[in-house]
Amino acid sequence: MTRPPPPPQDAAGAPLPPAPGRASADDRRRQKAAIDEDNLRRIRWVALAMPLLNLLFVALLLSLRADAEPRVLQWQEELRRLHLAMAPSFVVLGLGSVWLLHPRRAAGPLRRAWTLLTGACALGFAIAFVAADQRVGGNIATFLLGSIITGVVIVMPPLSSALLYLVALAVFWLVVGRTQADPVLLLAAQLNGTTGAVLGWVLGAITWRQALENKRLTLQLQRAATVDSLTGLFNRVETVRLVNDELQRGQRHGHPSSLLLLDLDHFKQVNDRLGHPGGDRVLQRAAAVLVQSLRAHDRVGRMGGEEFHVLLPQTDAAAAYALAERVRQRLAEALAGSGGVTCSIGLITAEVGEEVDFEHLYVLADHALYRAKEGGRNRCEVAI
Ligand code: GH3
Ligand code: MG
Ligand code: MG
Repeated sequence: MTRPPPPPQDAAGAPLPPAPGRASADDRRRQKAAIDEDNLRRIRWVALAMPLLNLLFVALLLSLRADAEPRVLQWQEELRRLHLAMAPSFVVLGLGSVWLLHPRRAAGPLRRAWTLLTGACALGFAIAFVAADQRVGGNIATFLLGSIITGVVIVMPPLSSALLYLVALAVFWLVVGRTQADPVLLLAAQLNGTTGAVLGWVLGAITWRQALENKRLTLQLQRAATVDSLTGLFNRVETVRLVNDELQRGQRHGHPSSLLLLDLDHFKQVNDRLGHPGGDRVLQRAAAVLVQSLRAHDRVGRMGGEEFHVLLPQTDAAAAYALAERVRQRLAEALAGSGGVTCSIGLITAEVGEEVDFEHLYVLADHALYRAKEGGRNRCEVAI
């Protein structure tokens, strides 16, 4: 069974606020969490591939002629040692990312901290290679490359990455100042290193902006595909998916699940009385009351018109009936001011061991709903 994506609504499908002009704080948090996850996915592959490159370089360095002058031999030895230290470090960073990406691990500061640590390690090794290279010239290419790759692979908020690059640049200046004796090469290294850090930060900031925009659009699309625009409840497609997922879960773990099919009574008359915009407001109010009357893990969807579905996971027939009655009464109380709007409910329970899907339950719940309508409305009937 596929793992459901994070619901676009809060617990119990709390109605969303009217479409905001700007991303809400909650949306921002979701976008950042999604970026953190993408970072770990990229880090996982890059960090686990890097040791292969390290080992290739070690083999290459070992195959070089051994009759070079001492400082060149020392340089080669240092590079070998750095590659040998880098390989296990990156394996740890890669495996840590795999661990943090496990669905059971919640998004949070640890993921962000791991990303930052990986960035710091990448820049740290790049500086260590620069230090080794100063023995045989003024090469700072590894820092330049490291900064650019870090900026693109690790997407961070500009403020965090500014801090990272500032610290890295300070260490870089310190290290080349100690390892490069030639003042001209030192100046060139300092200028080029600064360019590298600035470039890495700018690329990182551009990538961050694009990533945020991508996530914003993804969230918007996800919402449009799963949420009913009038009430903020799950739409029909998403409700069907949630119900089928829950039914499968129930069959696997051996628990019953119940479904309520709820229809507002004489809603045409409500529209006739209040007008369609007034009717819309009653639908929104009814949706809010439904959400408030249920438990955190129950799910509410609008099937269309004035018809709603309530999914009650891990709920047997008796508990579902009690809940349905509570919802019916609360709705009648809350909508008393809107001309006495009530609802009729059809209830069906998928018992343990029953292999049923949404369509099957829908048909039976619909029959029960019709009995509730025929029996005088404002009542709940159980499917037989
Ligand atoms: P019953 O008690 O038998 O369910 O009667 P009813 O009038 O509620 O049922 P009917 O199916 O005859 O009418 C449903 C009404 O709901 C008709 C339609 O105009 C109205 N409706 C459907 N969707 C919307 C909507 O999005 N907004 C508004 N305001 N009304 C809607
Ligand atoms: Mg109706
Ligand atoms: Mg109807």
